[in-house]
Amino acid sequence: MTSIEKNISAVKARIENSAANASRDPQALQLLAVSKTRDIEEIQQAASQGLNAFGENYLQEALLKINALKSMSFEWHFIGPLQSNKTKQVAENFSWVHTVDRLKIAKRLNDQRPENLGPLNICLQINIDNEPTKSGLLPDQACDLALSISQLPNLRLRGLMAIPQARHDINSQRQPFRDLYLLRQEINQQLDNFQKLDTLSMGMSGDIEAAIHEQATILRIGTDIFGPRTEKANNKEVKTT
Ligand SMILES: *Cc1c(COP(=O)(O)O)cnc(C)c1O
Repeated sequence: MTSIEKNISAVKARIENSAANASRDPQALQLLAVSKTRDIEEIQQAASQGLNAFGENYLQEALLKINALKSMSFEWHFIGPLQSNKTKQVAENFSWVHTVDRLKIAKRLNDQRPENLGPLNICLQINIDNEPTKSGLLPDQACDLALSISQLPNLRLRGLMAIPQARHDINSQRQPFRDLYLLRQEINQQLDNFQKLDTLSMGMSGDIEAAIHEQATILRIGTDIFGPRTEKANNKEVKTT
């Protein structure tokens, strides 16, 4: 087994254990492999272990991989910062966007989504710790944006995403995830039944257990699947053959 294959078995075991501890069905947890900076071969190794959903942060890098792996019918999730000039290619190439934080971006994605692909799945990125320099909406702005986005026919608003501040013990890690869960409840009270949010995109390599305890549905895992990212890897050219 390669180290990626071993890592995936270990991550799956952690997920199953935490799900059991939290009395949750492990089937309700989607493992999203965060493949930024990783090459085609590394993605194929992850796919050989049954992973078929990949998260990318940088559009140009992602498009090379999506094209090279077209025959694989993977589910691609955009999880990086999104500017207006990138919305068209994101709308055309991804199944999910986790980082919507303003109506202008949502409207562009809605207008640019090709009809034959069906609605684009959307999560609102929430700045759950109210950090001044972080991207994402402040929690008290989320309800209004959710109500507006729920009117856009080519988007399907699925839930909330957050990247909390680093915390080092499980109890303090659970707090922001709990806040995100409660915010989803609050938004769901305002939405019609058929529109209710079913997704919480939360939990990375360092806080998988805390996120599962607080009802995460999508875990975004990079390091614990592919190994540590280096500064160099962050800038490297992506091999596509
Ligand atoms: C890089 C990244 C991850 C994965 O983080 P790891 O700590 O490597 O698991 C998850 N979510 C987002 C938005 C990221 O940018």
